[in-house]
Amino acid sequence: MPQFRAVFDTMAGYQPGRAVIAPDGRSYKLSSNEAPDAPLPSVVRAIAEAATQINRYPDPGATELVAALAERYVVPAEHVALGAGSVTVAQQLFATVGEPGAEVVYAWRSFEAYPLLADLAGVVSVQVPLVEETHDLEAMANAITPATRMILVCNPNNPTGTANRSGELKRFLDRVPERVLVILDEAYREYVRDADVPDGLEFYRDRPNVAVLRTFSKAYGLAGLRVGYLIGHEPVAATVRKAMVPFAVNHLAQAAAVASLRAEDELLARVSAVVAERTRVRAELLAQGWTVPSSEANFVWLRLGERTPAFAAACAAAGVAVRPYGAEGARISIGDREANDAFLTAAREFRSS
Ligand SMILES: *Cc1c(COP(=O)(O)O)cnc(C)c1O
Repeated sequence: MPQFRAVFDTMAGYQPGRAVIAPDGRSYKLSSNEAPDAPLPSVVRAIAEAATQINRYPDPGATELVAALAERYVVPAEHVALGAGSVTVAQQLFATVGEPGAEVVYAWRSFEAYPLLADLAGVVSVQVPLVEETHDLEAMANAITPATRMILVCNPNNPTGTANRSGELKRFLDRVPERVLVILDEAYREYVRDADVPDGLEFYRDRPNVAVLRTFSKAYGLAGLRVGYLIGHEPVAATVRKAMVPFAVNHLAQAAAVASLRAEDELLARVSAVVAERTRVRAELLAQGWTVPSSEANFVWLRLGERTPAFAAACAAAGVAVRPYGAEGARISIGDREANDAFLTAAREFRSS
C-alpha cells in the first residue's frame, strides 16, 4: 500500500451541509449558510458572457477583480490576495506558516475547516474553548508560545453566531507579538448589525500583522463559484499570493465577483432581509423557550447537547436540513420566510414532543 502521511489515519474529512427531502417532497437547505435567493440577473449575464472565453486560462492576477476590491475598500491593490473561496485563502495562509512544530491558535468550536487545514499543513492546532459561545480572547492571547505563528479569529463565529467587540479585540491585538499573524475571518461581516463589532479593516490599517479574510460565498451569493480574498499588508498579501495554486480563481468566478461588486446595493438589500428574518427567527425561538445566543451572522445556534442528533432528524423529517455537530448543538441557517417557518414549526414540535 502506498505510504501516506500519518495525519491521514486520524484526520476526519470535511463534512459538508446536507440537503434533505421530507416524505411529502418539501426540502429546505438551512445547513450551509448560503444566500437563499437565486443569483441576480446581472450576475448571471456576466457569467454567460465570460463563458464565451473559457477556452483561455483565467487572468492569473485577476487584475479587474483585485482593482475593484482595492477601490471598494480603499486599499492598495498590492494588499489584496485571492483564492478559490476564502477556505482556500486560509489554506494558502496555513501553507505560508506551516513549518513542522508551528502552532496555530483558534477558538473551538469554530469553523470546521480550521482543524482540517491545520492537519493538511502539518501544523499543531491549539484550540481555545469558547466562553458563553464567544471567543475567549484573553485565553487565546495566553495560549501564545514561541512556536505560535498564526491566530484565527472568526468574527462573527461560525457556528455560534456570536461576535467579539472593538474594545476586547483591541486589547487582544495589543497583546499579540508582531511576529504572529492574526487573521480576522469575517465571512459574515455583511450581516453584522451591532455597531460595536468592528470592521476588521480598521485594525489591519495600522497593524502589519493583522489581515482580514472575506468571501463572495455568503452575502454575495456566489458559494457555487468559489472566490474569496484577503486584505493584508504587502508582505502578508504577497506571500499568500505566492502560495496560490496557479489559476485557482477561475474566469467565471472573477467575472461574477466583479459583477457582484457592481450590484452591491441590491445584494446588501437582500442581506438586510436576511437580518430581519434572523431577528424574527430568534425571537420566535426564544418565545418557544430555547436558549439562543444573539447572532450577528446568517444563522442561529442551539446548544442541544445529547439531543442534537434527534433534533436534526426531526427537522429532516419536516424537510429542513440543519447542521448538527455531534452531541454539541445545531446550526440553522436563515433562509427565506417559508424555509424559516418550516424550521420554526419543526422546532416547536420538537420542544413539545
Ligand atoms: C463559509 C465560511 C467561509 C467561506 O468559505 P468559502 O471558501 O469562501 O466559501 C470562511 N470562513 C468561515 C468561518 C465560513 O463560515
